[in-house]
Amino acid sequence: MKIIKLRRPISAGIILTYKCTSECKHCMYACSPRRENVWMNKHLFEFIVERITSITSHVYRGTRNRIHGINYGFHLTGGEPFINFQLLSSYVKSASNIGLPSMFVETNCFWCNSDNDVVDRLTILRRTGLHGILISVNPFMLEYVDFRNVKRCLRIALNIFGSSNTMVYHPYFYKQAENMNIEGKMAFDEYLRIALSKGYSLTDIFNPYILLPMGRLCYQLNRFYDRKDAKFYIGEECLDELTRPWHIHMDCYGNYIPGYCSGISIGSVWSINEMIEVGVDLSDKPVIEALSKGIGELYRLAIEGYGYKPLNEGYISKCHLCLDIRRYLALDVGGFKDLQPVEFYEYL
Ligand code: SF4
Repeated sequence: MKIIKLRRPISAGIILTYKCTSECKHCMYACSPRRENVWMNKHLFEFIVERITSITSHVYRGTRNRIHGINYGFHLTGGEPFINFQLLSSYVKSASNIGLPSMFVETNCFWCNSDNDVVDRLTILRRTGLHGILISVNPFMLEYVDFRNVKRCLRIALNIFGSSNTMVYHPYFYKQAENMNIEGKMAFDEYLRIALSKGYSLTDIFNPYILLPMGRLCYQLNRFYDRKDAKFYIGEECLDELTRPWHIHMDCYGNYIPGYCSGISIGSVWSINEMIEVGVDLSDKPVIEALSKGIGELYRLAIEGYGYKPLNEGYISKCHLCLDIRRYLALDVGGFKDLQPVEFYEYL
């Protein structure tokens, strides 16, 4: 029996829903307006908040009201949390009562159509106990959201939360959109045409330090990337990613998701203490067991055990190889407890 021990989380994203107003081409979590309208229930939310507040009490001592960066603290995310503002504000209140440190919400600003609305909602959240906000901006989100909404949200958030508790992810793309004088929404092909004409390179537009080659990007945008044969990646290891303590995710179905590896469930968050103190038994989690030994092991398992056929055109990253194998196992083979939620694979 193989067991891996999770390191004590120091920061996390709480995925309230996978439902979103956008279906961005790069989304790591395959969010979409078409996804089920499922939201984390209050019982699960409060359990998660109590656990992580207790586990991290030593980390944020004296700085619990401050936002330290996107890889610190606890973000309420999705999907798009502002789709259900009532639920969001009531969860912020609960989390604040429990004492969750460094709590911020992530939004794509779809709702920021007027100054009054933004002031009202951010003031409610601030008064209810939210410490800060993370405003998303990137070329793919701008296909769905008016850039003026993003600018409005940022201007007002700076007043309400202050500059140290207001973040944009990523300022690089905010600047790029400003330099391109974008007003309104913009189809990605148009964004690309204008950006290239203004002297940006493809590497500037697909900045790999910001747009990680994972999730939906591997399928929707792979034509912009160099590809390598599967064998190029098989020496790569993932145990560190699977057990890392920072910026892990817990979703509305109760899955404990390692880091950015969406579609992998280490186990139920209800067992978080056991997973940290005792470890995770991998005997019924063949994908994670293979990945804990390396990508090569997953590749062998998929080909020899389940008939996976490598892509002739190759892969843009090790995560693309991992994801393509997992997609095959989840959708074409089925029955893998460690590949959850299955819906993620359907919306890539
Ligand atoms: S290869 Fe798979 S397990 Fe490793 S970091 Fe990428 S998505 Fe996660």
